[in-house]
Amino acid sequence: MGWSIKLFTWGGTAVRMHLTFLLLIAWIAAVQWQHGGAHGAIAGVLFILVLFACVVLHEFGHIWAAARYGIRTPDVTLLPIGGVASMERMPEKPSQEIVVALAGPAVNLVIALVLIAALGLRLTINQMSLEALQSSFLAQVAIANIILLVFNLIPAFPMDGGRVLRALLAMKMGFPRGTRVAARIGQAMAIGFAFLGFMGNPMLILVAAFIFLAASGEAGDVEMREVIRGRRITDAMITRFESIGVGGTADDAAAKLLHTTQHEFPVLDGGGHLRGFIDSRAIIEALRAGEGERPVLEIMAADVPTLHLDATLDQAVDAMRSTGARFIGIIDADDRLVGYLTPENLNELIMIGTSRERARTDRPLPDP
Ligand SMILES: [Zn+2]
Repeated sequence: MGWSIKLFTWGGTAVRMHLTFLLLIAWIAAVQWQHGGAHGAIAGVLFILVLFACVVLHEFGHIWAAARYGIRTPDVTLLPIGGVASMERMPEKPSQEIVVALAGPAVNLVIALVLIAALGLRLTINQMSLEALQSSFLAQVAIANIILLVFNLIPAFPMDGGRVLRALLAMKMGFPRGTRVAARIGQAMAIGFAFLGFMGNPMLILVAAFIFLAASGEAGDVEMREVIRGRRITDAMITRFESIGVGGTADDAAAKLLHTTQHEFPVLDGGGHLRGFIDSRAIIEALRAGEGERPVLEIMAADVPTLHLDATLDQAVDAMRSTGARFIGIIDADDRLVGYLTPENLNELIMIGTSRERARTDRPLPDP
């Protein structure tokens, strides 16, 4: 995740802090300063740090449970609205997803119970008054953990409670459809949160926006992986295309841009091997700079990942995600370019696939 700094590594998982988290600390300090001066500001910041330590432990609850199923978590990022653990993958079995989802809130429950037990002990030993106890730091941390526990169990996918709901739905109607239904429920609840947020709690609006976007993002991802599962790269690749030779110039590329519908051209050497890709933006930039004579070799994107013809679409998506590349060259056994893949034609395949899937699953079942 961009805009974040690494705090420490624990058991193979890097704990990162998003820079906006510093804004939250500054904001808490400023608000508390107005109420209680320096002392109030320090207490406020200390409280938020302890609270986020509980959030980190919550995330490690998920991480340790996932590790039991062989799933690694490279990093967890602290955002002002909570923690986000980026697991390698989600558990495939619904029963495992339930265990992983509940392990986080379980940590908050344990923290709250331990604190309540400690406070109860103090109450009996020191004869403290109930009011003094209620305003104590530990009591506030205990209450905050109970709020975290309850809040995370709200069945708004992709929050923990929503993941449990998705897993339960997946048991009945399969993973893709279960995810779609859970995501819709999550988005409906997000709209409800936003509405409550506008009545006075701006933090809730942020949480609502996060849930809404995360729900659609994750549902889209699940559908996409479902559509491309087991399919070959040859099912989606562009096979009819114009290319440019290594001796071509920006002007040559501009001519091709006009006379074809392509927005990008592979640059090939005499043997048909891929040297790079030149897209419309690079061509236009060169023309604008008055460099129409410039060789395409100098303005193309050179480090384009390639995959062999027998690769799967899953591998293509992984390659695009890990390299951030906009093109994937597809080569035959002699390393000659035979096709290529762009995010656009991948999207087209996914749209075709999900439309077919929807037509199939949304059709009412015939009467027996
Ligand atoms: Zn959680």
